[in-house]
Parts: sequence; structure tokens; C-alpha cells
Amino acid sequence: MDTDVVVVGGGSAGLQAALTLGRMRFDVAVVDAGSPSNAPAHAIGGLLGAHDLAPLDLLVRGREQLAELPSVCVIDGEVTHVDSDRTVTLADGTVLAARAVVLATGGDYAFPDIPGAAELWGNSVIHCPFCHGWEVRERRIGVLTASEEHAAQFLPLVQALSRDVEVFEAVAGLRSETGALRAVVLPDGSEVERDVLFVAAPPVPRDAAFVGLALERDDQGLLKIDKFGRTSVEGVYAAGDLVTSPQAVSQAIATGQRAGVGVTRDLTADR
Ligand SMILES: Cc1cc2nc3c(=O)[nH]c(=O)nc-3n(C[C@H](O)[C@H](O)[C@H](O)COP(=O)(O)OP(=O)(O)OC[C@H]3O[C@@H](n4cnc5c(N)ncnc54)[C@H](O)[C@@H]3O)c2cc1C
Repeated sequence: MDTDVVVVGGGSAGLQAALTLGRMRFDVAVVDAGSPSNAPAHAIGGLLGAHDLAPLDLLVRGREQLAELPSVCVIDGEVTHVDSDRTVTLADGTVLAARAVVLATGGDYAFPDIPGAAELWGNSVIHCPFCHGWEVRERRIGVLTASEEHAAQFLPLVQALSRDVEVFEAVAGLRSETGALRAVVLPDGSEVERDVLFVAAPPVPRDAAFVGLALERDDQGLLKIDKFGRTSVEGVYAAGDLVTSPQAVSQAIATGQRAGVGVTRDLTADR
């Protein structure tokens, strides 16, 4: 199938890019595997106008908005390969040929492998003071430091949220009740009661489908883009967690818009 633009990934960044492009009447196919990184979180924190909105509800609203644009379609599926000629292959064998590709696949957040952490991830085990800090203000906060540098950058932020902050360098496990953290278990078996544990969780780009493009990256591994979302390969644009730090839904939306505008400028200049 031929189309103007394929957007790979339908999280906040990809849906925003598609919205911008659809409103400019381009044919857009969004391919989305349906696993945004923030899905485990109860609500999106710190996004203007979205108080207490669940992450998946924002994307449902986004898809509803896109459904009103006749030139945009959303395909539930996984992209397995993106070629430098902008041919996009899906896991079911579908091949899409596009004039431009927007990469918006996000990242997998590598939180520490502590027994009990996976069940609490995104709610009582969290990584981002700006996302979840307000909700846990003045609670019993733990911080698991990953390095001296992490501690130096992170502790002042968390101490702005609560006076009850305990720092851990090693944690053996977590005890929870009804889906909420109750205590941090130390290597000697003793417990420290905590309501929430902040951890380092750097996002690892979900780039398996396009690693062959050898896109230029910065020293943090983020894809290098210009102010219109263009990567180092012509016709390939990127947005969201692939290109931004610190990561946030607001940043994903902003960079999705930038990529949408960039594609629009380049494709209309071709006419
Ligand atoms: C637990 C957690 C909680 C967070 N809480 C907040 C918060 O409260 N406030 C805030 O501002 N930010 C929060 N963030 C950060 C925020 O979620 C991200 O910055 C934002 O989701 C990035 O948007 P994105 O579109 O780049 O990626 P994502 O939202 O991860 O969306 C990427 C989409 O692409 C799809 N995809 C990936 N690979 C492929 C492929 N090969 N083919 C097709 N589709 C693919 C995925 O399935 C997914 O649907 C949180 C992050 C985490 C991990």
C-alpha cells in the first residue's frame, strides 16, 4: 500500500504527529503495537488539562480525534523493518511504501530487577518526581540510588517533595499489600516502612525495527533531530522518548507536533 506518511508507534508522540499531518490532509498510516511505556501508571501527572487522566484514556481520546480525519488510519500491529527508502514492513507481512516515516516507538524503562518491583512499577515504584511527585508529597519516600551522580541529581528533587526521605543503596525486596508498597526489605532481612520508592529507570529506545538505518544519536543514545524532527536520514523523522530527555507526555506531544510540521513542510515543498 502506498501512503504519504507512515507513523511507527501510536503513543502520545505518534498520535500527535498523525493529528498534525491528517489536519493538513496527508494520507497517514499509524502502526501501533499498543504498549505505551506509561500504561502501568494510574494517571498521567503534570500534563496540562489532563488531571487524573489514565494514560490509555488519553490515547483513546487521541484515536477518537484521528477517526474524524478521513485521510488517517490506525493499524494495530507491529513494524518489524523500516528501510531507508521508507518502505515499512509489518509483522503480518503487510508492506507500506511512504514518502516520509515518523519514528515514535518510545522506550522500555529499565527499572531495577528487585523482587516485587514489577507489580508496583508506575505506582509505588516510580522514577520521575515531575510525573508522580505531587501525588506522594509528604509521604514516606525511599530512594534507591543507582550511583553517586544519580543521588546528587535526584535527592534534592525528592527532598523538595517530602521531609521523610530515606536513601537505600541495596534493596533485597519489596513488601506490598493490595497493590501498594508497605516496606522496603533490606539485604539483612530487616524492613523499612515506605509508601513509595523512587528508582533510576533509564529508557532503552525501542529501535529494533530501524536500527539498520544507523541514525545519528547523541551521547545519551537519543536520536539526533533538527527543529522539524528530521533525523540524519532523509525522509525519516522522529519524536517522543526516542528524541527527548527528560521524558514526559508533554514532550512527546511537542516533538510529535514538530515532526508533523517538518514532514508537512518537506512534502509540500516537493509539490
Ligand atoms: C511508568 C511510567 C510512568 C510515566 N508517567 C508519566 C507521567 O505521569 N507524566 C508524564 O508526563 N510522563 C510520564 N512518563 C513518561 C511518558 O510515558 C513518556 O515520555 C511518553 O509516553 C512517551 O511517548 P512516546 O509516544 O514517545 O512513547 P510511548 O508512549 O511509549 O508510545 C510508543 C508506542 O509505540 C508502540 N511501538 C513500539 N514499537 C513499535 C513497533 N515496532 N511497531 C509498532 N508500534 C510500536 C508502542 O507499543 C507504544 O504504543 C511515564 C513513563 C513511565 C515508564
